[in-house]
Amino acid sequence: MAPFSSLQGIRGVGPRRAAILAEAGIRSIDDLYDYFPRRYLDRTRLKKIRSLVDGETVTVVGTVTETRLENGGRGQSRFKAQVSDGSGLLDLTWFRGVHYFSKSIAAGDTVAVHGRVTFFGRLPGMQHPDYDRLDRRGQEGPGDDELYNTGAIIPIYPTSEVMKQAGLNSGAIRTIVHRAFRDLPVRFDEHLSDGIMAACRLMPIDEAYRQIHFPSSPEELDRAVYRMKWDELFFSQLFFALRRTGERRKASVRFDHSGIRTASLHERLPFKMTDAQKQAVRELYHDLRSGRQMNRLLQGDVGSGKTLVAQFAITLAVDNGLQAAFMAPTEILAFQHAIGMKQALEPLGLRIALLTGKRAKKERQAVLASIGSGEVDVVVGTHAIIEDEVQFHRLGLVVIDEQHRFGVMQRKALQDKAENPHVLLMTATPIPRTLTMGAYGDLDVTVIAEMPPGRTPIRTRLCREQDKEALYESIRAEVGQGRQAYIVYPLVEESEKIDLRAATESFEHLKSEVFPDLRLGLIHGQLPPAEKESVMDSFRSGLLDILVGTTVIEVGVDVPNATVMVIEHAERFGISQLHQLRGRVGRGVHSSSCFLVYSKLAGDAAERLHALESTTDGFRLSEIDLQLRGAGNMLGREQSGAVSGLRIADILTDGEIMRSARTAAFDLVRKDETLRRPENATIRDYYMNTFRCGVTLADVG
Ligand code: ADP
Ligand code: MG
Repeated sequence: MAPFSSLQGIRGVGPRRAAILAEAGIRSIDDLYDYFPRRYLDRTRLKKIRSLVDGETVTVVGTVTETRLENGGRGQSRFKAQVSDGSGLLDLTWFRGVHYFSKSIAAGDTVAVHGRVTFFGRLPGMQHPDYDRLDRRGQEGPGDDELYNTGAIIPIYPTSEVMKQAGLNSGAIRTIVHRAFRDLPVRFDEHLSDGIMAACRLMPIDEAYRQIHFPSSPEELDRAVYRMKWDELFFSQLFFALRRTGERRKASVRFDHSGIRTASLHERLPFKMTDAQKQAVRELYHDLRSGRQMNRLLQGDVGSGKTLVAQFAITLAVDNGLQAAFMAPTEILAFQHAIGMKQALEPLGLRIALLTGKRAKKERQAVLASIGSGEVDVVVGTHAIIEDEVQFHRLGLVVIDEQHRFGVMQRKALQDKAENPHVLLMTATPIPRTLTMGAYGDLDVTVIAEMPPGRTPIRTRLCREQDKEALYESIRAEVGQGRQAYIVYPLVEESEKIDLRAATESFEHLKSEVFPDLRLGLIHGQLPPAEKESVMDSFRSGLLDILVGTTVIEVGVDVPNATVMVIEHAERFGISQLHQLRGRVGRGVHSSSCFLVYSKLAGDAAERLHALESTTDGFRLSEIDLQLRGAGNMLGREQSGAVSGLRIADILTDGEIMRSARTAAFDLVRKDETLRRPENATIRDYYMNTFRCGVTLADVG
């Protein structure tokens, strides 16, 4: 592409700046072209200060004439700057980050500020505007005239503090990019095939690069941005598409006997399956009978009945003479699932064993032996299942419940217990569709988008710490009706001991002062497993009215008679955790309520709790969550890699582009599994060289 790749070949870039640019990830000319603006100023929409109107939100470009650090009283300082654009003066004020801004803004700077205009008397001002320094007078820098005078749209490049200090502000970067384009004979060879270019109506890559850095019009810029996003999404989806064919090709045992056990599981059901459950079972069975390895994610909101779907797959495995492993993230959950499986599957002749880390040694040896000999059909357990000493006789199916709680390595370790066993991942953390495509694009996905009938929606109310008396009355009334309640205290890792004490003390208080006449139990992670099990058992069988606990009861616990959920310090929990906790009630025919108790409500916490109050739709909540937290934080670490690998596309807002790119990628692989055809050679090369996914392609081809 470029005849040489040293940045120092560009006028204005010496060793020092080259080092700073390298620090920012710009090590070569190619990196420079790939350093995209973070936003654009449309000069045709810039406003002169003279014509500003109170209350409007605008962008103004001008020069800082003076700056001032002021004492705003009560120990509060503020930073003020005045900007002139020749037509008038604009006052900028910062109350927060005062120290930072006072250091980074100086008289003489050319800045672009964006914000809402407020008039103080006749002087227009902005508070906490979005601000970009375009250039700084007196610093060694390009200062070319072409800086602001070419084109109507000015790109604003991201710059770090270190870059700014070296004069590498947005304007300087733009000049450097401009010189690179002007002085070096650059051409970006198109890597997509003519067919894809035409079908998806994409701007050629060379043009897109030029438009991204030097837009000639808003429309052309839009097309360029679309092309870049599309490209990025296309190659990430290509990764998934190739992986999927790779895994698809792996043969796995064909479960083609639909035996007697499966039939009687169906006959013995105490309720009718929902249509969504039936459809999910059909999809699973299709995979299991295909002779290729199943790799499916079963998504469904809390309480949608995923366990039953898994039980059908498990039963089919056993009908075909194979074993199944079911892994859950906590001991309580594993224990509960073991009970559930025993109830549902033992009458069909399946032999179930529970395996958790904290079993007594002798008992454990016996369980291990029966797993190894094939005496046991289904092993339910925690991650204890993946330990080396656990050897299966003939493992054919792996089910991982609440899969987002496990790391990739743990999931892989379980799968490695057999050769290409079928894999079913389950999650109650609903993920927006586009995010699923972006993060789990290599899995088949089944969604259970329907709740079993007869559920009454959970009423959720916020409750101030001071107003808990009323809440206690509600609990008392429910218990009087024969119902049960949970009271949950958060357990935040850093302060585990203190929180545990808080939970224990509150338990004592509730037991002796508030509900001396009721039966209360306490459960938390530090209890020995046997004790945890016995407390859970008592609650399940109705021997306890109120279960006080830490978040160990968060996942999967299923007691339909419990109708009240009180969450203390709700402001400390995240949206999905609150949604999970709330899902512990509303599981039976009785109407349920959830109380979110808080002491202070501010910022994001307020938004989270109000979101919970406004809807019980897990998908809606996860979208809100995503908006509040960003994609990277929402998924586990290794999944966020796949997502945050995106530089310009936004998985939330670019759903349309994602769909187009995904379709194209999967079509391509369907027609040319290993990208061996000549017309796809450039796609193949680009994929191998530019995206770090070459390994997969090598695996495939
Ligand atoms: P989750 O999807 O959260 O794992 P579960 O599998 O624990 O949900 O199911 C929640 C509850 O709903 C359980 O008590 C289960 O027995 C019950 N259930 C499952 N399917 C149905 C159905 N079709 N009709 C009625 N109740 C059902
Ligand atoms: Mg579950």
